[in-house]
Amino acid sequence: MKLKDLNKLTDPLPNTDTMPVLFLGHGSPMNAIEENEFVQGFRKVGTEITRPKAILCISAHWETKGTFVTAMESPRTIHDFGGFPPALFEQQYPAPGSPELARETQKLITKTQVELDDHQWGLDHGAWTVIKQLYPDADVPVIQMSLDYSKPPQYHYELAQELKSLRKKGVLIVGSGNMVHNLRMVAWNKLEEPNYGYDWALEAREKMNHYIADGNHQPLINYKAQGRSFKLSIPTPEHYLPMLYTLALQEEKEEISFFNDKALGGSLTMTSLKIG
Ligand code: ZN
Repeated sequence: MKLKDLNKLTDPLPNTDTMPVLFLGHGSPMNAIEENEFVQGFRKVGTEITRPKAILCISAHWETKGTFVTAMESPRTIHDFGGFPPALFEQQYPAPGSPELARETQKLITKTQVELDDHQWGLDHGAWTVIKQLYPDADVPVIQMSLDYSKPPQYHYELAQELKSLRKKGVLIVGSGNMVHNLRMVAWNKLEEPNYGYDWALEAREKMNHYIADGNHQPLINYKAQGRSFKLSIPTPEHYLPMLYTLALQEEKEEISFFNDKALGGSLTMTSLKIG
């Protein structure tokens, strides 16, 4: 047998201990280059967990009809924002991709036909600005999975559950968004004020944190039925749904911890989660 054929027989993703799951409140793209308490929180959690073989990121910033995973060898760094200084546009995060993990993810999901994207996307700022803080050397392969904007929250939760076995293959699954995220209502003059949140943002954060700590996921999936504070906090679903992806991966009674649990600019929260 030739060496080439032998390689095909070796499992590209051998079994490992169960990896944690992270939800990262990414906030401003400037977190890629600024020093503040939030990036310190990201870095700290990076030192606390086993180094993954690869990362699968579900970012608020990749919405599609249908579900895609990036499958290129070298995903490009996408600067999907405007009005920031040139230093941010000069940033590159040259982490390799993982076509193997993309194919494995495609095989795992039965809820829909996941499509492989080998040339369009790359790493958007929801992924690279925060993963950079965990692995600054860009030496852990990263793939992204898109959010199907046509589907309800329950669908996303169930789809995410199908990814569970990847946790035992050395894969770190990262949801990146913000649980409370209303950009139209940001108090731009209060961004420097620590933990500044409107009453409804603080109320939503407290309720969300309670449900999360209790492992009570159903009200979080049915967020549209939770009244005014949730309505204002989640005007559109894309920054909230990545959090549901991470909760869906929690085993029963599995430990969950909060970090970066602060309000920002009135209408955002940076609350982040570590499961396991
Ligand atoms: Zn964002």
